Amino acid sequence: AAEQKAQIGVTGLAVMGANLARNFARHGYTVALHNRSVGKTDALLAAHGSEGNFIRTETLQELVDSLETPRRILVMVKAGAPVDAVIEQLVPLLEKDDIIIDGGNSYFQDTRRRERELAAQGIDFVGVGVSGGEEGALLGPSIMPGGPRKSYDALGPLLEDIAAKAEDGKPCSAWIGTDGAGHFVKMVHNGIEYADMQVIGEAHELLRAVAGLEPGQQAEVFEQWNTTELASYLIEITAHVLAQVDARTGAPLVDVIVDAAGQKGTGRWTVQEALELGSPVTAIAESVFARALSSAEPAMRLEAQQVLPAGIGGTTEDVVGDPEFVEDVRKALYASKLVSYAQGLDMLTMAGAEYGWELDLATIASLWREGCIIRAQLLEVIMEAYQGDAAPANLLFAPQFVAAIEDALPSWRRVVARAVERGIPAPVFASTLNYYDSLRRPRLNAALTQGLRDYFGAHTYRRTDDAEGVYHTLWSGDR
Ligand code: NAP
Repeated sequence: AAEQKAQIGVTGLAVMGANLARNFARHGYTVALHNRSVGKTDALLAAHGSEGNFIRTETLQELVDSLETPRRILVMVKAGAPVDAVIEQLVPLLEKDDIIIDGGNSYFQDTRRRERELAAQGIDFVGVGVSGGEEGALLGPSIMPGGPRKSYDALGPLLEDIAAKAEDGKPCSAWIGTDGAGHFVKMVHNGIEYADMQVIGEAHELLRAVAGLEPGQQAEVFEQWNTTELASYLIEITAHVLAQVDARTGAPLVDVIVDAAGQKGTGRWTVQEALELGSPVTAIAESVFARALSSAEPAMRLEAQQVLPAGIGGTTEDVVGDPEFVEDVRKALYASKLVSYAQGLDMLTMAGAEYGWELDLATIASLWREGCIIRAQLLEVIMEAYQGDAAPANLLFAPQFVAAIEDALPSWRRVVARAVERGIPAPVFASTLNYYDSLRRPRLNAALTQGLRDYFGAHTYRRTDDAEGVYHTLWSGDR
């Protein structure tokens, strides 16, 4: 009998690669396994070899030989130079129309470059954003593949089988666009995740400082919020984290954790790219900066507490235990979140124009409904807003969101005002409100900026009346 061939090969069997390989096997695929050091391959086979059909390989040549054609090889190694190293070793072993899939957190510009280089050699390169962490990789991640459209015909069915399924049964995997589109969309997903987490943190802080709720009580609030339009994975696990008691001290665990947030870089990439595109993703930027401020200069924060005055006036009444304030925070959280998603999706539209991707926002929202960290009921509503012919130019213009914001606005303004009065930082609550007010303001102070630029640098300005072209004024400024 002919030797059985594998439908997919996985190289890089650390936690993500191993779990994706198991996920393929559990869906009935024969999976060829490879890792640079063979120990990880054998450990995976020892622990989970009985879960499905695996082919053990020790070399990339063996991996390539074990696969049916066109070959599908999923590379799950450390992002950066290791991906290039693996590609370089693989390419001489491959044939035209074979597919290399990079499922790591690669920078989308690297993906664009790799796709270009490999296309010249007849190899399809697919950059796939995978979200959902370790558990998602095993049980069903959200998958964002970019690359040549035709490669999705050979690869898509496998990805759709292992992906998370939304409530309507649809898989959370769909072709996103050419070259780096998948990794770009994953990057923005992570940026939005930063903003979601930051604004939840701000709500937590306000519930304590203004409403006097301890973490244990807040856990109940978040649990209740998870039954409203805020329902989402991050709100759900916030309740769990706030309810956790430290075994050593008996204090809420959140109060024992050092308040210095780490980051691995995808939020920073999102903001760097947003600056390049001129895309005002203020919620994501504030979230990246909030993490930086929390962790970069501990000594400076300590000194600031000693030398800098709070300047808090006597204008704020006490609202400890006030359920209306709690409801204000909930509504503000929803409104801020809507703006943050509107900003992120707008960034995708701008990137699509820049990089020639026809990104379908309904499809992208649909992929984020399950499997990924930002999964939420809201994404179902966002998907619906972009379906059909009359897609809104901005998410906030969808009628259901206009109504939601109108309902939330008084609460949102009260929450931001209270935070400012009390000296409680709330950068995402405030910056999203500023964005909202800027977007709808008939005239912006940019007119004065243009005047100043023309004054000192002859940068010219355009006029609001019917005089066309650009103007420079010989400013007669002495006063
Ligand atoms: P990782 O710690 O990022 O990488 C370890 C793997 O890379 C090992 O299999 C290692 O092989 C291999 N490797 C490193 N350098 C190599 C080289 N020069 N040549 C060949 N192989 C090399 O693994 P991970 O946490 O499973 O993540 C894999 C990818 O998924 C990363 O891009 C990560 O950012 C992304 N990701 C991770 C998560 C998560 O929750 N962890 C979620 C989404 C995406 P050896 O065993 O031989 O050292």
